[in-house]
Amino acid sequence: MAEEVKTTCPYCGVGCGVIAKIADDGTVSVKGDPDHPANFGRLCSKGSALAETIDLDGRVLHPEIAGRRAGWNDALDLVAHRFSETLAEHGPDSVAFYVSGQLLTEDYYVANKLMKGFVGSANIDTNSRLCMSSSVAGHRRAFGADTVPGTYEDLELADLVILAGSNLAWCHPVIYQRLAAAKAARPGMKVVVIDPRRTMTADIADLHLAIRPDSDVALFVGLFAHLISSNVIDQNYVAEHTNGFAECFATASAVSFNDVLEHTGLPAMQLREFYRLFAATEKVVTCYSQGVNQSSSGTDKVNAIINCHLATGRVGKPGMGPFSLTGQPNAMGGREVGGLANMLAAHMAIESAEDRDRVQRFWQSPAIAEKPGLKAVDMFKAVGDGRIKALWIMATNPVVSLPDADAVEAAIKACPFVVVSDVLKDTDTARHADVLLPSLGWGEKTGTVTNSERRISRQRPFLDAPGEARADWWQFVEVARRMGFADAFAFASPSDIFDEHAALSAFENDGGRDFDIGAYAGIEKAAYDSMAPFQWPQPTGDERAITRFFAKGGFFHADRKARFIAVEPAVSDRTSAEYPFTLNTGRIRDQWHTMTRTGKSARLSAHIAEPFAELHPRDAMEIGIGNAGLVEIESPHGKAVVRALITGRQARGSIFVPMHWNDQFAAKARIDAVVAPLTDPFSGQPASKNVAVAARPF
Ligand code: SF4
Repeated sequence: MAEEVKTTCPYCGVGCGVIAKIADDGTVSVKGDPDHPANFGRLCSKGSALAETIDLDGRVLHPEIAGRRAGWNDALDLVAHRFSETLAEHGPDSVAFYVSGQLLTEDYYVANKLMKGFVGSANIDTNSRLCMSSSVAGHRRAFGADTVPGTYEDLELADLVILAGSNLAWCHPVIYQRLAAAKAARPGMKVVVIDPRRTMTADIADLHLAIRPDSDVALFVGLFAHLISSNVIDQNYVAEHTNGFAECFATASAVSFNDVLEHTGLPAMQLREFYRLFAATEKVVTCYSQGVNQSSSGTDKVNAIINCHLATGRVGKPGMGPFSLTGQPNAMGGREVGGLANMLAAHMAIESAEDRDRVQRFWQSPAIAEKPGLKAVDMFKAVGDGRIKALWIMATNPVVSLPDADAVEAAIKACPFVVVSDVLKDTDTARHADVLLPSLGWGEKTGTVTNSERRISRQRPFLDAPGEARADWWQFVEVARRMGFADAFAFASPSDIFDEHAALSAFENDGGRDFDIGAYAGIEKAAYDSMAPFQWPQPTGDERAITRFFAKGGFFHADRKARFIAVEPAVSDRTSAEYPFTLNTGRIRDQWHTMTRTGKSARLSAHIAEPFAELHPRDAMEIGIGNAGLVEIESPHGKAVVRALITGRQARGSIFVPMHWNDQFAAKARIDAVVAPLTDPFSGQPASKNVAVAARPF
């Protein structure tokens, strides 16, 4: 009799439920879970191919020290010894953890507790910094907490869906399927896509606004001014539930329609039509993703969008609201336990002495990080200049994925002590490890993840642990015990950790904090194992989760009001005579991250077999490159060589290159070696879009 296990897809932030079925001969098949509220049985190409990516080829199956097989005890003793020694000699800020949105919430919780409460530093950051930290910063500025106000259902209920900086069709395919089905059933629904490039997503758009890179702030500040002149401001909502409208009004008033045209490069008719649609439609959802977040003005873009929704009172009501689409499967879970260098657990603020005291009392920890730690890009700069002397990288491949990737590789090579926990032995990062620890992969590990609509789902195991691979949370627990913190890390299973996480979320929480799953505190292991997907918050004593926030105010600033943030359009053109093109990086439909998993599926690799640069036909002609010719892309930071794909979907002067390929799959294709280490000043998120580059035939 074949066994079926309900679990969750490990790729994107949609968080689809899947059913893994193991036949009597051990063959695994995967299908969508019809009961999961994120996908109702749907899957995309990546989710459908999950069973093709679970072989053991390339797996690290036992710990290694300096490239030689070692026992767990020796490896863990060495990690604990070197971290303790570095702490004693150089202080808490000389060590760091760089973790991942691929971790389960329980892994993240333990890592964060160890670093912030017991090491006493906040030097723990995550590749989620590259994904959505501008949304976190924007939420916190506007709402007082990192709260996503709405749900996926809102996209189906809306009369106007705006997709800003989002290639939904390729990057969140099941949400795209839900939206396309809703639009087909209700043809009056309008979709506006805002993207410099005409992607597949634009195929369902009623209006595609091919704005200049990074001109989103000007677009939405102009919209704010238009909403005022159109008399569609919700005066009651603004008066009762917000602060800062007047300052925002003053800033927006200084930006004319012609200014917006100049910034965005849009035709006046298109801009007018967009503004008219937004003003005339009550049920509007504005979804935004990496095109908004991965920018030196990412946080301002998020707030420019939120300002328009606050001004019209279109927040947290069915079919209305700003909506951040998270890239990774568990970026949200990481945020909930404070897995970012500038947050505390349970959405508490590291800047707040009261919150720090509360968390320290709950953990009964000897220390608590007093200030934000180093965010991803700065963390690796600190590794490079010797301030960080012991580094633990878990479930991520920064040598491919961080900007200025060659400098990141050099920094890791030069770091006195590097631990890497991963499933694969020979990633671009793992090959520089002093200690390599074998982790469990998808289908082997157990825990929870949170998707973009605040829905917590279980990942469940259906495969045996290969070789000596162990869970990531277990690795942190064992090192914490060896560092002398055994009592505080007496976790025997992920359910123990989830129980503590739930209890902390409810600890002294009188409703003034958003994240609360106190109903799950004290959960028994059997209930944890059978847990159905649920949305937070689910406070103690409440029978039903609250699915939407802020329709009637109740924000999380001290006065319970939202803040309008007065943002100003920034100059977005970085090109010069030497670097005349704008590079935008992004994802393709059938690959995930640095391809360490999806690269195993021949079916997925058949979609697009090699890295490419999309070029406009006239740009290609001017630099003398023909279709399928090799093009070298260069910035002051590095070079990459990929194949030219000449297409009218690309805007003139812009080049798109996918971020997935590494040297393992195609020589010189690491595009992040070209990307400058420029970040947003509020969120620290790298500007992976809008990079000035030169392009020439190779
Ligand atoms: Fe997995 Fe995302 Fe595809 Fe759903 S949409 S199956 S979560 S990759």
